[in-house]
Amino acid sequence: MSLLPGKYANVLLPLPIPGFFTYAIPPEMESTLIAGVRVVVQFGRKKLYTALVHSIHETNPGLSVKEILVQMDMLPIVNIRQFVFWEWLSEYYMCSMGEVMNAALPPALKLSSESRISLDPDFDRDYSRFNEREYNVITVLEQQKELSISDVSQITEQQRVIPLINSLIEKKAVRIYEDMIQRYTSKTEKFYNLAQIYRDDENALAAIIEYLERRAPRQYEILINLLHYLDLRNHPENGIPKSLLISEIKSADGALRSLVEKGLLEVTEQNVSRLDKHEAVQSVSDIELTEHQQEAFTKIREHFTNQKPVLLHGITSSGKTEIYIKLIEETLKAGFQVLYLLPEIALTTQIISRLRKFFGDVAGVYHSRFGESERAEVWNKVASWQAAAGGQAVSHSVILGARSAIFLPFSKLGLIIIDEEHDTSYKQYDPSPRYNARDAAIYLAKQHNAKVLLGSATPAIESYFNAKTGKYVLVSLEKRYGNMMLPEISVVNLKEATRLKQMKSHFTPALINELEKALERNEQVILFQNRRGFALRLECNLCHYMPQCRHCDVTLIYHKKENHLRCHYCGYKEPIPPHCPKCHNKELNLIGFGTEKIEEELSLIYPDIRIARMDIDTTRSKFAHQRIITDFEIGKTDVLTGTQMVSKGLDFDNVSLVGILSADNMISFPDFRSFERSYQLMAQVSGRAGRKNKQGKVIIQTRNPKHPVINFVIENNYEGMYRHQIAERQIFNYPPFSRLLKISLKHKEPEPLNLAAYELAGKLKKVFPKQVLGPEYPVVSRIKNYFIKEILIKLSRDKNLARNKEHISEIIKDFMRTTSNKQIRVITDVDPM
Ligand code: ADP
Ligand code: ZN
Repeated sequence: MSLLPGKYANVLLPLPIPGFFTYAIPPEMESTLIAGVRVVVQFGRKKLYTALVHSIHETNPGLSVKEILVQMDMLPIVNIRQFVFWEWLSEYYMCSMGEVMNAALPPALKLSSESRISLDPDFDRDYSRFNEREYNVITVLEQQKELSISDVSQITEQQRVIPLINSLIEKKAVRIYEDMIQRYTSKTEKFYNLAQIYRDDENALAAIIEYLERRAPRQYEILINLLHYLDLRNHPENGIPKSLLISEIKSADGALRSLVEKGLLEVTEQNVSRLDKHEAVQSVSDIELTEHQQEAFTKIREHFTNQKPVLLHGITSSGKTEIYIKLIEETLKAGFQVLYLLPEIALTTQIISRLRKFFGDVAGVYHSRFGESERAEVWNKVASWQAAAGGQAVSHSVILGARSAIFLPFSKLGLIIIDEEHDTSYKQYDPSPRYNARDAAIYLAKQHNAKVLLGSATPAIESYFNAKTGKYVLVSLEKRYGNMMLPEISVVNLKEATRLKQMKSHFTPALINELEKALERNEQVILFQNRRGFALRLECNLCHYMPQCRHCDVTLIYHKKENHLRCHYCGYKEPIPPHCPKCHNKELNLIGFGTEKIEEELSLIYPDIRIARMDIDTTRSKFAHQRIITDFEIGKTDVLTGTQMVSKGLDFDNVSLVGILSADNMISFPDFRSFERSYQLMAQVSGRAGRKNKQGKVIIQTRNPKHPVINFVIENNYEGMYRHQIAERQIFNYPPFSRLLKISLKHKEPEPLNLAAYELAGKLKKVFPKQVLGPEYPVVSRIKNYFIKEILIKLSRDKNLARNKEHISEIIKDFMRTTSNKQIRVITDVDPM
């Protein structure tokens, strides 16, 4: 990669096509064009795209190269290290750099396909301001509503039309859709200051103040406020923002205007940040680590020196977060940036308020539910970050984020913390790149020479294996903070209770009993129900027919509130049929139970208790999740029911009972990871029980009380679970002993799909005879009208991994080229979860 001026640029287009595209650099851009800036180029016969310059060189590609049309940024928005990171991702996860770029850039900086312009609704129809070309475009737009960039090019008979469009936008005549031009614009606010003459003349000012006090009390109040705030500022010449100036004065707009009209105040429009301000209120040195925590902390620091990732295996509530905070402070003092990853956006709220107590604005948040402009602002802050002299605090030196935060333009990372490292939410399923942020973060850390700390109460088998075999270093924390005991876990046999007719809806007498005791003592309860397969379905009680989705191979789920049946894969809905569609029998039963049912039945048994439910359905809106958690935290609700969402990293003080309504579905799910997953889920949700100085209780309802995984949960025996699983994984050559690669084929018809799947599997088996499994239908074999078949490849973990993947890519490419069935879609997923 050369940074010297050259004649050609390799650019990335936001397309799933591998490789770079070469364009010629026009002479006027030769001195300004650099890697990392965005440009507009023509691709194909008509389309214009915004592309990202990857490198600049002198090699003539030989063909007739097109010229770059416009340079959009003067400073790079992406640094060279990020390009290397993207390249690694695209190779490892077998996708194009364009796809990685699409995932990496925040939407407001993103590169669009073809953009269109239309008249600005606020256009004042004052035509005198336009030149002839601009005028032509406007008259066409008045008839045609919208135009593509290439249309504009035709109308004006010009190749380079972006400057013209920019000028029209500036004159507030047109608007552009998508983001050919910066979608991100900075936010501004009016700032007020004392007019210069009064700044220089104290006597005149005093006279005015006295006058206003008698005649215009509101103006007087504003002026006094202004003087007060100016006094507090280091740079009073910048003035005071309007929001602050009149924050405590009612209907002050008129008074403010008069002050300006009188020439007392000056107004300026200034850029302001959209990000909230926060101040630290506590010092990190106030945290006193316990003896065990101190020991773990010291070990972590020792091991950091040999540059291996450290896995902190600390049981729930052992104080992992406190250790993270200490490490963050050290890293900041040494002048580095910190990335702190969490698997769920919802968890960032609790943790950021803990971080901000100590670090104020030095800690920032970044995830995909954050507003578009705010994300762009955080991006720019990280891009322009520079260590301050003397270890001073710099805004956004610590970024707390969900998986997309690994893509921020860091320049000097010193530490990456990956909390709840076992969590499957670190993996992106769709769209490509199907990356695991935990694994990618470890690569990222290597790039920066940064330290890595993985934390979990229930590490992933792979990570624990890495720690045991010396690839990582293991540090354990086995005591809970503040004398908190681990909960007492008991198991109730669902089969027995059903046979003895003791069940009260889905609750065994043991659970009911504990629930009542807890509620009597004003303690809180969490009821956990794994969603998978446990929702309510409709079944004919004669022929046992269950209504199915028209587009997917799944049973429809009953939703009481909307009173309809719905597909959880594609959203298809239908009304409740009056009789069985097969045998016309009128008696249809509801079977199974979901979180909604639990909530309802519980409120039938106990009409007075306050119940909240947390699952995908109740947390769709932006703040719903936070509201449910806060209500529970402050004791507004007594019982929280929910899916795995309730098991994750949340910290409540008053929960004395956790009920797992049925352990069976997670245990028996057909996947080699279900043993590990069930352990993690049950151990994590159990960890929510218990309060200071008081042992909590957990009740697990199951039809398999003797199942080994349940025993490991009861004994809090992670090590035992690990040994049990690692032995099995070795026998069957599953990860960590191999690496998996899943190839999914999709087609609207089953026949061509089958043929194609066998053909591709055959080609793969020729090269990897013992490592290819399938093709096989997955558990859900049709989604959104596409039939699916899967091929699983177990790749050995040796040095040949990269080469083998390349080989597989070649085989797939060759198959796509030669197959007679062009409608087939092939999706590769590396390290599927
Ligand atoms: P984990 O992340 O391991 O689940 P946390 O860090 O959330 O544990 O700690 C659990 C609770 O104990 C939190 O409320 C935390 O503030 C408190 N805590 C842990 N260690 C300390 C400490 N050394 N001093 C004060 N409070 C602590
Ligand atoms: Zn469906």
